[in-house]
Formats: sequence, C-alpha cells, structure tokens
Amino acid sequence: MPEWSEEKRAQQRERSRRWRARHLDKARELGRKWYHENKEQAYATSQRWRSKNKETVLEYNRKWDAAHREERAQAAASRRAVNKEKVAEYNREYRDAHRLQFRVYKAVGRALKSGALKKGACSACGAIEVEAHHEDYSRPLDVTWLCRSHHKRGHSERLSRVGGAGRGT
Ligand SMILES: [Zn+2]
Ligand SMILES: [Zn+2]
Repeated sequence: MPEWSEEKRAQQRERSRRWRARHLDKARELGRKWYHENKEQAYATSQRWRSKNKETVLEYNRKWDAAHREERAQAAASRRAVNKEKVAEYNREYRDAHRLQFRVYKAVGRALKSGALKKGACSACGAIEVEAHHEDYSRPLDVTWLCRSHHKRGHSERLSRVGGAGRGT
C-alpha cells in the first residue's frame, strides 16, 4: 500500500468524521439505514467482536447493571404497581358485573314466585329443565328460556363471535 494512499484514506476518514459531527441526525439515519440493509453483516460483525471481547462485554454489562440498578428497581416496582392496579380493576369489574347478575337472578326468582314471569320450555329444543338467559341485564324479566346445554352453547357461540365480550346470563 503506497504511502499517499494511507494518508488519503486518513484524510477521507477525517472528512467523514467531521461531516458526521456536523450532521448528527443525518449520520444516525444513514447508520440506521445501513444497519437495516446489512443486518446480517452487522450482526456477524458484532458477534465476532463480542466473542473476541467476552470480558469487555461482561464488564460492560456489570457497569450497566450497577449504573441502572436504581432505575431498574423503580421500573420493576412501577410494573408491579400497574399490575396491582389492573388486578384491582379486574376485581372491581368482576364484582360489579356479578352484582348485577345476582340482582337479575333475584328479580327473576321473585317474578317467578309472584307469577309475573312463567318458565317456558327451552326455546331451542323444548326441554323442560330450563335456565333464564338474558340478552340485556337492564331488562331482568326479558328472559329467554334455555336448557342447560343450549344455554351453554348459546353463550360460547356468542362469546366466540364477539371475541369474549358476551353479555347476559
Ligand atoms: Zn335445549
Ligand atoms: Zn345466558
């Protein structure tokens, strides 16, 4: 390799370093673009470097862990808090939904007792052993009578149709 070429390449490197310093965003974007177009090469290079510098990598990881211990503890705590809140919300929703279900169930029982509501046969197969099915909890006496198996079937069909957000009992 002739002398001048080495010098020229150094100049070229310096020019491109200066250009990158002046155009940080652009340089970053070009770097990203290069990375996307040469992912495998980039990965192989980085793997080669990592396998040759295992100690450096370990040390780097140790330092990173130490520097971010606090941060990571906070992140974990906040994840736990969010999760706790989610569980509480789920329980609230469950309780509210079933409180309503319980009220509707009671209303049906009272109406049957008073004669305001009469049990019918399963509207699908005519069986006499039936359960009350509600399309809408806000109308507790608007009941469709279904045998246990048709009731179940109706719910699972509706559940799969609307992705789990089925209503009614
Ligand atoms: Zn039936
Ligand atoms: Zn039902």
